[in-house]
Amino acid sequence: MKTEFDGRWSELGREAMKEVKQWRLSHPKASLEEIEQALDGPLGRLRARMLEDLAQASEATQFNEQTAERPRCPQCNEELISRGQQVRELETAHAQRLRLDRTYASCPRCGAGLFPPG
Ligand SMILES: [Zn+2]
Repeated sequence: MKTEFDGRWSELGREAMKEVKQWRLSHPKASLEEIEQALDGPLGRLRARMLEDLAQASEATQFNEQTAERPRCPQCNEELISRGQQVRELETAHAQRLRLDRTYASCPRCGAGLFPPG
């Protein structure tokens, strides 16, 4: 695992909290329900950035032919071959986009193509 993947979290957290505070100051009569909804945007963005960083913390998401221990095929346990970096885009809660940089891989034995998990 990488260990320094949380470097920008404090700053992102402060930005999200500042945004929520400013929203509250300009909506003094907001209901509890409206306040809850106003939290979802900034915290949803923070959640998505943290999810990206957590997903990419695993060394298994990036490898090439020089990597000592390459991920193995889930079907036949053969070491996988890198087919280069690809951006995988997904959508998560609160309609937030995730962009994950991962190595796409294929298996030289059975021909399976996959993003190695982990
Ligand atoms: Zn295989």
